[in-house]
Amino acid sequence: MVELRVTYNREVCVGSFDCAAADPRRFGRNATGDRAVLRGGTAEEPEVFVLTFETADTEPTVGAARACPVAAIVVEDLTSGRTLA
Ligand code: SF4
Repeated sequence: MVELRVTYNREVCVGSFDCAAADPRRFGRNATGDRAVLRGGTAEEPEVFVLTFETADTEPTVGAARACPVAAIVVEDLTSGRTLA
């Protein structure tokens, strides 16, 4: 298990939903369908949301970040201190 921290910047999100396709457990569409939501995330700033969780499978979340066309998502491995995407 590793502890991941996901940071999502809604301000730069363009609503392509590649993130939701790659990791629907963590990402979805907002109520108006024009931006992503980070499920369970908390607002660190008005447009920046953060979610920390433990997982044995980092690939879906890392894939979501890599698929984002505007780099709105950052995934950090808090266990190793590395930025994964
Ligand atoms: S992939 Fe990036 S731009 Fe597209 S909805 Fe997700 S966060 Fe927004």
